Amino acid sequence: MTSRWAIALHGGAGVTPGRDYRPVEAHLGELVSAAEARLAEGASALDTVEWAVAELEASGLYTAGRGSPPNRAGEVEFDASIMDGPSRRAGAVAAIQDVRSPIHAARAVMERTPHVLLAGAGATAFARDIGLPAIGNDRDYFRLAIGVEPEDLDVPADALGHGTVGAVALDREGRLAAATSTGGIYGKRPGRVGDTPLPGAGTWADDLCAISCTGVGEHFIRAGGAGDVAAQLRYGDIQLGTAAETMLQRVKSFGGNGGLIALDHTGSEIFAWNSSGLKRAAYGSHIRRMVAID
Ligand code: ASP
Repeated sequence: MTSRWAIALHGGAGVTPGRDYRPVEAHLGELVSAAEARLAEGASALDTVEWAVAELEASGLYTAGRGSPPNRAGEVEFDASIMDGPSRRAGAVAAIQDVRSPIHAARAVMERTPHVLLAGAGATAFARDIGLPAIGNDRDYFRLAIGVEPEDLDVPADALGHGTVGAVALDREGRLAAATSTGGIYGKRPGRVGDTPLPGAGTWADDLCAISCTGVGEHFIRAGGAGDVAAQLRYGDIQLGTAAETMLQRVKSFGGNGGLIALDHTGSEIFAWNSSGLKRAAYGSHIRRMVAID
């Protein structure tokens, strides 16, 4: 057992001017406290990030799970992934539909199949087969999406702010884990998949670090995202913060923006972004509880 444990959460990069973020701030604060308490009691990093992301999805406060926007065809498609640092096992779903918790589906891919990523109709059928709760005809489920007008679908994602959710944790056994979940970007085409469900792009965990990204997924995929940050640590002996800035510079050079949260194996946390803000929180045995939006 180590004497250190920590959790960091994000509720997406980007802050929309004029929006009241107090409910988000309160929610992130409650969650980070509850997650820290779980870790203090010995919960695994993997279970903790899955639990935290499921709570973020269920809240409707973010562009993930219940708060996800429809694509151009009026359908909601979710992306999510989870990764366990010590084993580097990973599970992910892309463009999955009709599931209440995409992150539970991602964890199930990891635990119950020999695969890492299931996509589209196959992912949705898998969730059905194993009995994960569906959304079905519950018209009230997508609370935030109800406010999205068709013309919003043509607004660049950056203008609306990103609301992907993510969690990284270090547990008392020294294990790292990361999880990320999203409804994707506004105005996306049916079948569009971003960085979130791709281990090495939107999510990464190994023995040295755990990372969850948010931002314009196309640019994060091209920049190598979370995997690029982890590789800088492993092969370049570079500090986590420096590695994150370098990757985000690459994203910026492609015309994109976003941010990330990360923890290293010593429990040091990093928040980095080049968007208008990053909704974030952290807490740990050695980290004072913090919640911030920009
Ligand atoms: N990265 C997500 C995606 O491209 C969006 C976000 O972070 O808000 O799907």
